[in-house]
Amino acid sequence: MSYRIAVRALCEFSAKAGDLDLRFTPSPSAQEGIAGHRVVSERRGERYEREVALAGHYAHLEVRGRADGYDPDANRLEEIKTHRGDLARQPANQRALHWAQAQVYGHLLCLARGLDQLDVTLVYFDIASQRETPLSQRCSASELREVFETHCQRFLAWAQQELAHRRRRDAALVALNFPFADFRAGQRELAEAVYKATHTRRWLLLQAPTGIGKTLGTLFPMLKAMPGEPLDRVFFLTARNTGQQLALEALEQLGARPPGVSAACAEAPAPAGSSAGEATPALPLRVLTLTAREKACEHPDKACHGEACPLAAGFYDRLPAARSAAAERGWLDRAGLRTVALEHQVCPYYLGQEMSRWADVVVADVNYYFDLHAQLYALTLQQQWQVGILVDEAHNLVERGRGMYTATLDHAAFRRLMPQLPAPLKRPLARVATAWQDLAEQLDEAGTTRDYRVLERLPGKLIAALQHAVSRIVEYQSEQPIALDGELQRFSFEAQHLCRVAETFGNHSLCDLTRQPPRGRQRRAGAMLTLRNVVPAPFLAARFAAAHGGTLFSATLSPQGYFRDLLGVPDAAPWLALGSPFAAGQLEVRIATRLSTRYAHREASLEPLVARIAAGFHQRRGNYLAFFSSFAYLEQVADRLAQRHPEVPQWRQAARMDDAARTSFLARFESGGAGVGFAVLGGIFGEGIDLPGERLIGAFVATLGLPQVNPVNEQMRERLQALLGSGYDYAYFYPGMQKVIQAAGRVIRTASDRGVIELLDDRFAQPRAQALLPAWWPEPRLD
Ligand code: SF4
Repeated sequence: MSYRIAVRALCEFSAKAGDLDLRFTPSPSAQEGIAGHRVVSERRGERYEREVALAGHYAHLEVRGRADGYDPDANRLEEIKTHRGDLARQPANQRALHWAQAQVYGHLLCLARGLDQLDVTLVYFDIASQRETPLSQRCSASELREVFETHCQRFLAWAQQELAHRRRRDAALVALNFPFADFRAGQRELAEAVYKATHTRRWLLLQAPTGIGKTLGTLFPMLKAMPGEPLDRVFFLTARNTGQQLALEALEQLGARPPGVSAACAEAPAPAGSSAGEATPALPLRVLTLTAREKACEHPDKACHGEACPLAAGFYDRLPAARSAAAERGWLDRAGLRTVALEHQVCPYYLGQEMSRWADVVVADVNYYFDLHAQLYALTLQQQWQVGILVDEAHNLVERGRGMYTATLDHAAFRRLMPQLPAPLKRPLARVATAWQDLAEQLDEAGTTRDYRVLERLPGKLIAALQHAVSRIVEYQSEQPIALDGELQRFSFEAQHLCRVAETFGNHSLCDLTRQPPRGRQRRAGAMLTLRNVVPAPFLAARFAAAHGGTLFSATLSPQGYFRDLLGVPDAAPWLALGSPFAAGQLEVRIATRLSTRYAHREASLEPLVARIAAGFHQRRGNYLAFFSSFAYLEQVADRLAQRHPEVPQWRQAARMDDAARTSFLARFESGGAGVGFAVLGGIFGEGIDLPGERLIGAFVATLGLPQVNPVNEQMRERLQALLGSGYDYAYFYPGMQKVIQAAGRVIRTASDRGVIELLDDRFAQPRAQALLPAWWPEPRLD
């Protein structure tokens, strides 16, 4: 069995040494890189060969790749690298990596063409100045062969253990049994649907109700499909951290956690010396959770390079041992990864990035695959992996997807930053300031002041100034470390993101200005600039297409047209709704037909709402959740209930609750307890919480969850109407009803639960609202 590896991956493995150093980053965007390559190759002669496909073998390694260009007249192979900033600042180990790649291509070219020598050239192309800096070496074929063989030898032992691991893994997956004697009701159908979709290389939209055991029911068939397809990797992607924990629990049930690694490791580091797997797991899978840099960083006050951070100094020198230890441990949840990283004195965040190349199952937030800079997506393309993907709570992908392709720049924060700028940055950022202020003035036109305005076109002058400023900041950063959490760094990241989003601007997005009133000594108002994605489908479609197959699953994926239109799943993707394991007799649904929670009727609604909540509570004492559209409304109703019915215990969600406050809110829902927890619909208690049995026996939903009518949402509605013909439903109605169903779904969690859902607004009685209620719910009682 041969092991296939790309030239780039081979060199990244074998040629990196020394410090981790991000001072010469960010590198140009993918689009800038492609454009840069095109500019350089268009400058070459007619006989110049582009993208030369090459391959070679060493022992059982098969090394493949495409050299950027070959000029047969000059007998020169070129490896083109785009960059920003002063090349003299490029870390030596990055340069060494580039040489390694060029020389390996050089060997493969000599081999293919029978050359006995070659000019190997690195062409550095500066994105800003469009200038080339060529660096050349004349190499003999034997010198290049030696380089190639050295890199292959360094990789060979790793490749052998990778092949052995894969054989072990696949054999164990073939023999893997479902960990329980029986599937839950509906779970077998779910598992079969996921397996079939993966086997037919398709995506599946799967609406599966609570109680089916979705996490295990999707992971099990995906893992079973791994050896046969074959799949290189499985990504389990979630929109919330709670989903990640459930995935780890399911993987533990399947036997992937080694016995020596205790469940407590999910929260706390394992004892020193315990990083290597003490015992072999029943299922030899490498499981990795990816954590955001802010959470994984051990030195948040430092910058990511060897002179500032001890875990970046010598990172690549210690990486091979850390990588081997991590691979041996296999179970790399956050605590496990941290333990290995600290034992080997390397950064846990960057060790996690490295291990995402070698893990079998990666559990991560959806942004690691779907966003603009998504690492797992980039690896999938680069390494030509066959990946199977599971997206949990996929209804969130519409909003999350929009967020990934939206960029905002805060003018007020920028103006605060200006006086503190270091001297070399004053001029480039002054250009930004001028262009931005000119733009802000556009909100005051013809004697009228507007708070919000959609621009017909991108503000070219400001974007150009921002691009220039970003280059200057990167150059400055290569000389002066900027703290990761500093204002300048934040602005730099946000500006880079905006410039990248601007490159892909189209009718799927809006460009808008929001007025920011003058503060302090400022005389003129500013303007927040937002490139706002409305339809993420054009971006996400490429991500779906890059996977072997996958399943988007959620309890609320209706109506299917809404999700198809907005997410861009392939047309061939089937949509399947599974029945609930619960019976209609477990639930009572009531709709208050004479109650309106519309904004204009808020005051009048207080007394009837309080009366309904108190009556429901007295009818059956127990724990209830009551959902409202805003904190203000919640407070009004809760205050009124306290006045009129002090005998009803109550507790309230507050804005920005930390973990402790959240836990204590949920702790009030004790079995045998009684009271009403007030919460905001669409907030942290509206989905993703599990209060089975007597912990929760009912929910009052006093809102349709409709997003607020405001200028931004109105623009979204108009754009959705123009593009997809469903403005109101897509902007307001469907997202609102999904939140309602998610929140109401907290009530019945097991086959023995009994509960009531009170929908407290006359609009719930409309047929179009009732059509969206889960099919297994009983006929609502209208009163
Ligand atoms: S520990 Fe923090 S500062 Fe150090 S390299 Fe890692 S992320 Fe950067």
